[in-house]
Amino acid sequence: MPNCERVIDASVRWRFAGGWDMAEDKEYRLSSRSILQVALAMTSPPAKRQRTEIAITRSEIWYQDGSVVLQAQDTQFRVHWSLLSQNSSFFRDMQSLPQPPEEPTVDGCHLIELPDDAIDVKWVLKALYTPSFLAQTALPFAAVAAHIRLGRKYDFRELLDLAVSRLIYEHPTTLEEYDALVNPYQSTRIIPHRGIELDIVTLARKNDILCVLPCAYYRVLRQATSADSLFKYVKTDDGTQVSLALVDLRRCVSGREKILDVQSKSGYPSGWHRHYVPGPNCTGLERCVETREKYLCAYLDTLTSWRGLKKVKLTNTRFCAVCQQDIVESNAAGRRRMWDELPGMFNIAPSWGELKNEL
Ligand SMILES: [Zn+2]
Repeated sequence: MPNCERVIDASVRWRFAGGWDMAEDKEYRLSSRSILQVALAMTSPPAKRQRTEIAITRSEIWYQDGSVVLQAQDTQFRVHWSLLSQNSSFFRDMQSLPQPPEEPTVDGCHLIELPDDAIDVKWVLKALYTPSFLAQTALPFAAVAAHIRLGRKYDFRELLDLAVSRLIYEHPTTLEEYDALVNPYQSTRIIPHRGIELDIVTLARKNDILCVLPCAYYRVLRQATSADSLFKYVKTDDGTQVSLALVDLRRCVSGREKILDVQSKSGYPSGWHRHYVPGPNCTGLERCVETREKYLCAYLDTLTSWRGLKKVKLTNTRFCAVCQQDIVESNAAGRRRMWDELPGMFNIAPSWGELKNEL
């Protein structure tokens, strides 16, 4: 669709449908030029607007010397043009537009209605007005998600970049960074909650933060007790239910099958079980053969169990030092190979290098 048509289409939807086109289950990012045109399209005479009377609440973010009022759902925020313009090209462009005299005002301030969740707007304003908020080690997921959603839509560039960097920190693109996270893993830059793995997958996919997805999908699979469990809803801490969208389910089911299929093949993390005969440098042949047999039997008992990128642990083992070293090296090489193949296993891209975020 030509850009201008897309803009007009978006503005119409904004006005009458109260939101962006979600047909593809994606959250759009408009170009600066598009944003300006959408803003222009919004400044039609109020007589033509079909307004619904709703009870309006004033947010706690209400500055008496504020110069503009934002309204999202039934909540209004009185804030400063200068701060919005300083942080967002959307509002910078919008401020430069001439305001028609008939436009609605609140306490003498221009009123801008946003088709967003009031909570998202609150999280953005909180970050803009309270710099120490962003300096916290961990932020609530809701804040990170709001900064990404509205950061892309209105070009709050710094908020967006900081939120994406938190997401990438928790879901890195290299095995070294993945291994450097706390073990057992717990989110440290985003406050964890029940079902956060599913929320992160949805957020990253809807906002085209593709580099996060392989690790995010892998985390979902690690948590899953079976393929069937991927289809279930998870009750979050606030009582709401989350689940994977169909596109994510397909990728997770496909990735799970592929990982289970290769995890114990030669060249993959658990492939060392196949080296039943110790290498030529083994210093305890009889004992190492016997130990390998025990490991192999235990392995066969749980052949279809999830192992994935699991690091081998040879505690209290009877293997000789040479065999131990062989096994650790085989496991490390296999983990590297599996990590490299994750984007393809989840049918996102052939390799990590081809995962391009659209921010
Ligand atoms: Zn040995």
